[in-house]
Amino acid sequence: MSKEQALSDKKIQAIRGMNDLLPDQSPYWQYFEAQVQTLMQRYGYAEVRMPIVEQTALFARSIGEVTDIVEKEMYTFDDRNGDSLTLRPEGTASCVRAAMQHGLLHNQTQRLWYQGPMFRHERPQKGRYRQFHQVGVETFGLEGPDIDAELILLSARLWKQLGLLEHVTLELNSLGSLEARAAYRDTLVAYFEQHLDLLDEDSRRRLTSNPLRILDSKNPDMAAMLDAAPQLMDHLDAESREHFEALTATLDAAGIGYVINPRLVRGLDYYSRTVFEWTTSALGSQGTVCAGGRYDGLVEQLGGKPTPAVGFAMGIERLILLLETLDLVPDEATPSLDLYLLGMDAAASREALLLGETLREALPALRVQVHCGGGSFKSQIKKADKSGARLALLLGENELAEGSVTVKFLRDEREQCSLPRDGLAAALSELLNVA
Ligand code: ATP
Ligand code: MG
Repeated sequence: MSKEQALSDKKIQAIRGMNDLLPDQSPYWQYFEAQVQTLMQRYGYAEVRMPIVEQTALFARSIGEVTDIVEKEMYTFDDRNGDSLTLRPEGTASCVRAAMQHGLLHNQTQRLWYQGPMFRHERPQKGRYRQFHQVGVETFGLEGPDIDAELILLSARLWKQLGLLEHVTLELNSLGSLEARAAYRDTLVAYFEQHLDLLDEDSRRRLTSNPLRILDSKNPDMAAMLDAAPQLMDHLDAESREHFEALTATLDAAGIGYVINPRLVRGLDYYSRTVFEWTTSALGSQGTVCAGGRYDGLVEQLGGKPTPAVGFAMGIERLILLLETLDLVPDEATPSLDLYLLGMDAAASREALLLGETLREALPALRVQVHCGGGSFKSQIKKADKSGARLALLLGENELAEGSVTVKFLRDEREQCSLPRDGLAAALSELLNVA
């Protein structure tokens, strides 16, 4: 091994499954985030930001002890004073905690949203990371199917805005009330016990702890048996059935297509009644881009007053991957420079820096980069070209003396020209069509 290689091997790398977001990608994120922000404003949802670290008990008590997340995916560590803390694996529990702690649930309804990183120790692969990002929406104090429908309409509008609507499918199910689910659970366990030989190890373990989750198994050897299992839909309590029918009627009226998936149970314990996922076939096996549902029992479970709630979370990485795969990121999402300013010597370079400020002052929409760091004319022009700018503005001894700039057209076959510094902003605004 060469000395150089030995040195580079020692370079510290990012943690597996935790990604850097580099300049070639950040415009996509900014585009997506801007779309989300305006969408939330259009629906009257308010943003909240929670810490990324919480007490471990919050997640154990809300998500459920016998879930993939709590059993094996959490980043849990002891704080220096011995408290057990966890990097949040999802946002709902934190959002409920914050809303309760600050009295947002007292005799009022809330429509909240957040975005940010989540952490799960999963096997990294395309569309699955250990630090990933979600946009989450949570509503509190609303028990009717109208708000379930609104959440779905809101997400559908986002797909429409992004050009994704025809590439995603809405899957719906109802988990019914706690009581209905408990009765169904017994029916389901009895069915699974007749097919013990077909259950894989994970599922056998879940048979006593969380049998509904077996329905969620992706094991192809179990698929036929699971398809033939008794369905929760047939065991719903009357109120949950009514709720579900009102939701589907609203979606029908709004022209939102959906598929009822009786095996959709979601991986977290806190759901009741409506659950839904938006999926795509364009991303391989990591096809769920948005998932949510009703969790009427969670606030009480965490020590608050009974409060109906419904929400969803979408995975930003998967959505951006989808936009890229389908080539749906508009060119405007990656803004390019209008101008690159450069000076031939130290005095002209300082002038270029000042001219940049003058132009930005006059033309707020103008995108200007001023060359820094000196260098030969040739190397500066190369940088100008590489910057993607449409025009290069050159300042040299002559230009300073006569109060002009030389304009080079970097993207058009067009002779360079000279423009007076007086009235330059107006002339550029016309040339570039920017205000
Ligand atoms: P999956 O079935 O893909 O494991 P999940 O049911 O664990 O998803 P949720 O907890 O419902 O996912 O999270 C909502 C969304 O967040 C998912 O639909 C997905 O888009 C995204 N997501 C979840 N886990 C990851 C991850 N490890 N990496 C990237 N995105 C993720
Ligand atoms: Mg998961």
